[in-house]
Amino acid sequence: MNTPKLRYDAVIIGGAIMGSSVAYFLKQADPAMEVAVIEPDPTYEYASTVRASGGARRLFSCPENIQMSNFSIDFIKRFPVDIAVHGEPAPIDWVQQGYLFIVQGAHMRLLEENAKIQQALGAEIHLLDRKGLRDYFPSMHVDDLDGGAYSPGDGWCDPSSFLQGMRKKARSLGVEYIQDTVASLRHTGIAVTHAVLASGGEISAEVFVNASGAWSSQISEMIGMRLPVSPLRRFEHFFTGQKKIEPLPYVKDLHRLAFRPEGDGYSGGLVNSDEPRGFNFDVDHDYFDRVVWPALAHRFPSAFEGIKCHRTWSGLYEQCELDGNPVIGNWKGRFDNFYVLAGFSGHGMMHAPAAGRGLAELITGGRYETIDLCNFGYGRVERNVPYPERGIL
Ligand SMILES: Cc1cc2nc3c(=O)[nH]c(=O)nc-3n(C[C@H](O)[C@H](O)[C@H](O)COP(=O)(O)OP(=O)(O)OC[C@H]3O[C@@H](n4cnc5c(N)ncnc54)[C@H](O)[C@@H]3O)c2cc1C
Repeated sequence: MNTPKLRYDAVIIGGAIMGSSVAYFLKQADPAMEVAVIEPDPTYEYASTVRASGGARRLFSCPENIQMSNFSIDFIKRFPVDIAVHGEPAPIDWVQQGYLFIVQGAHMRLLEENAKIQQALGAEIHLLDRKGLRDYFPSMHVDDLDGGAYSPGDGWCDPSSFLQGMRKKARSLGVEYIQDTVASLRHTGIAVTHAVLASGGEISAEVFVNASGAWSSQISEMIGMRLPVSPLRRFEHFFTGQKKIEPLPYVKDLHRLAFRPEGDGYSGGLVNSDEPRGFNFDVDHDYFDRVVWPALAHRFPSAFEGIKCHRTWSGLYEQCELDGNPVIGNWKGRFDNFYVLAGFSGHGMMHAPAAGRGLAELITGGRYETIDLCNFGYGRVERNVPYPERGIL
């Protein structure tokens, strides 16, 4: 961490994966730009990024999300080499073992419609009927399923290494990380002018970016901007089964069971969408036995009827309550120099590279150059017009 200057071209609030990504891409776009990232905790203890499961997939319905995944997955695959600093590689343990969505009834139709969009955007998607599921994954109980979508080019990486690599690279390009908390924002009638720090200092900038994840509505509230992003606690578990089965992809179902192989075991959970919103990191140690294990044992009886949960941790989704999609862009016509990059609702690790690049384009050039992310702009929040995903979240 450096002693902060008094003025920067861009100040980014929040220095985990989203803040570090936009910082990196700003320096890529304009190496002369003076960029500061304000982040209170260099250990990232409570940041969602380091608590994430690491999955990256193209199984979405909104074209922007699929395009962001296409870019981000390529970026993640090249990461060790492209993000190397002084020749030292940046390994992030990418495992390309695919993603599998499994569904019943009318949802099969939705998977088929979504697959057409994904394939049109270049993704390799295999639609499987019940027999196909059984052939691919013989240990899976499929009698109550109508099919699935398998995306073999997807996978997962280690989110902590991803963040550390991104941060190290951004710093090597001249981005300054300031260890502090943004306590308030000062503004004139039309522009945000200063970030006021908890330590007492103030930093002025041309542009401010709110990349503070589950805390982002608090930051936006400082200038009267209503951001419908709330903290949604969810648990992640590391568990082992009683019997070794075929290699699995990242499996997700309609009830929000989601898990993937990890070493000799598995990492995953089952998101409770009705979880009360708030900054709650308590761990409910019965949740796995009560909720997750029955779902796992039902789906893979031979592997998971006997099971051991070794570790449970909690983390926060930065949940966009409007539609489960991110808010990317500036507050047009009110504070044009205040940008938001938040509300990724469980998809932020995988979309950080593309979203960071997109926002950097918007900031430096005034428009998107690669992926058009206008549909994720703040305008839809102001107009209260949701732009949701269709199908499994
Ligand atoms: C259990 C779990 C599993 C997940 N699995 C996946 C997955 O498989 N794939 C995927 O893509 N995504 C996944 N996610 C979601 C993903 O982790 C998030 O979308 C992503 O990490 C958001 O990154 P971020 O940088 O916006 O937020 P964070 O990582 O939360 O970082 C926000 C930062 O802002 C800082 N901050 C807060 N207040 C202030 C302030 N006042 N001033 C300055 N800084 C401040 C915080 O210290 C923090 O470091 C998962 C999340 C959880 C919890």
